[in-house]
Amino acid sequence: MSRKFSRRSIVKSLGVTATGLTGMAALSGSASAFSDGERIAATTNLNTREQPGTDQPIVATVNPGEVGEIMNGPTNKGGYTWWGVHWLDRNVWGWSVERYLQSTSGGSGGSDFDWPISGYITSPYGARPGHYAVDIGANGNIGEPIYAAHSGTVDVRAYEAGGCGNYLKIGHGNGYQTMYCHLNSFDVVEGESVSRGQLIGGMGTTGNSTGPHLHFTVERNGNHLSIPGGDGETVTAGTKIPKDYSGI
Ligand SMILES: [Zn+2]
Repeated sequence: MSRKFSRRSIVKSLGVTATGLTGMAALSGSASAFSDGERIAATTNLNTREQPGTDQPIVATVNPGEVGEIMNGPTNKGGYTWWGVHWLDRNVWGWSVERYLQSTSGGSGGSDFDWPISGYITSPYGARPGHYAVDIGANGNIGEPIYAAHSGTVDVRAYEAGGCGNYLKIGHGNGYQTMYCHLNSFDVVEGESVSRGQLIGGMGTTGNSTGPHLHFTVERNGNHLSIPGGDGETVTAGTKIPKDYSGI
């Protein structure tokens, strides 16, 4: 059983001042890439520092795949988003940049994908013949922010007049893709790497759409996978879709 460290011990070990505590409040933010206590891994040789900021002393350089636990953050400094991480194997705490961290969550907890928008389900998966997606509304708010359901790469950014309108497809590895349709605006470009919870576009009603909503799909190797959620169910951006998608 792993030791659980209190906030106080983390604050002490990181040498955070009282003003540095403001980052903790942001943990409740609905579109944060990670949540408190979430297991993450470094995606590259990654510096972890005493405080947020590239000018801060390096505590350690962790290896690709090394696993840590989110203890604090996010906080923005010097153009980067920083997270306080307890690196488990070496029992070291430090701040690292979000773009080089990837969630390792999965399994029965259903943390493989996050809801990409805050709203309510207007058409559950499979409720209409041939509709292998969930439609999510948000009070008709054109521009309602849409976030990446998982980290990955923007495979497609395109316009399809008779169908998806402005849409994005994000590849997540292992054959997985998520798709986001009828967008009013784009916040990413094709080929761009995105992190879980990153703003990718705004809700709209472009293409074959009867009103502003997000049409959201999960595919693996081109096959649509079911997404849970009943008609009218409320969903919150950045919270976990309660399903285990194997292999991601
Ligand atoms: Zn739809």
